[in-house]
Amino acid sequence: QPRSLSGMQPTSDSLHLGNYIGALVEWVRLQETHDAFYFVADLHALTVSPDPAVLRERTRLTAAQFIAGGVDPARSVLFVQSHIAQHTELSWVLSCLTGFGEAGRMTQFKDKSAKGAGPNVGLFTYPVLQAADILIYDANVVPVGEDQRQHLELSRDLAGRFNARFGDTLVVPEPHIMKATAKIQDLQDPTAKMSKSAATDTGLISLLDDPARTVKKIKSAVTDTEREIRFDVDAKPGVSNLLSIHAALTGTPMIELEAAYEGKGYGDLKKDVAEVVVEAVTPFRERTLELMADPAELDRILADGAERARAVAEATVRRVYDRVGLLPSA
Ligand code: ATP
Ligand code: MG
Repeated sequence: QPRSLSGMQPTSDSLHLGNYIGALVEWVRLQETHDAFYFVADLHALTVSPDPAVLRERTRLTAAQFIAGGVDPARSVLFVQSHIAQHTELSWVLSCLTGFGEAGRMTQFKDKSAKGAGPNVGLFTYPVLQAADILIYDANVVPVGEDQRQHLELSRDLAGRFNARFGDTLVVPEPHIMKATAKIQDLQDPTAKMSKSAATDTGLISLLDDPARTVKKIKSAVTDTEREIRFDVDAKPGVSNLLSIHAALTGTPMIELEAAYEGKGYGDLKKDVAEVVVEAVTPFRERTLELMADPAELDRILADGAERARAVAEATVRRVYDRVGLLPSA
């Protein structure tokens, strides 16, 4: 079976609707056809300097949400990035193959360093660690949102470069990006992607929010001064975003959806989207809270996943170290 692999950062208590529709739903689907590896990217989260106790709590919360969303730890390898020391080992080797200018062209670094207070070197080398996350498991497909396309391209380049220089060693991964749902936008600023680390909370649909709050956020989503409901990202980013959310959660083709809203107003669309979201998110929220009530069991699941992940990661790093000429320890 081909292997799929992906991760999310524990950078907030709750995942948001973009993480869910853009990635998690696809992770779950890929379990059917792929040997799946999914992880909580806690090392990546260190780039934004989290409080230690908060990071610990969010790491469990993020893992619980993967399971609540349908990741089955018996089928998939579910683990925490920092439990596998080999990620940082491979990252070092790859960073020595990455051009300084190449890393400097990563747009997420530019976006995030513009927002945060003084970027650190970790934020700069983040895409290299991400390449290690992927390449260390010989992943064939990487299901992510559109915002990760450039990072994935770097992973592919690094795998290819390594293989060209040291002989065939690493699998070159394919991006797996769902076209229609790959990018859910911020409700208040529909030209920006919905983000855990967004400046304001009002544009963010957090999966663990209580339903009343979610409804309120959707009803105050920014639209435009026209009245017509149609999918047109450039001219109508807000309305198009609401339509995307609806289409993704109900599985309705966009053409049908547009037809169904002919002659109706933005208020109708918002009301329906709110209903669809609350319906999807309510069981998810309940299941997450249940899982969080038993942290020992959650830790046991993560320890089991780490053991299975480590076996693969160790073999890759041994292979890589040998290829680049690092002397094995006797
Ligand atoms: P942060 O702001 O801390 O980077 P994030 O919201 O971007 O958080 P990540 O943990 O970086 O979330 O990404 C997890 C997954 O969710 C990735 O596959 C990413 O592509 C996807 N994703 C993130 N935001 C969106 C979005 N707005 N629409 C679709 N997919 C998204
Ligand atoms: Mg992100």
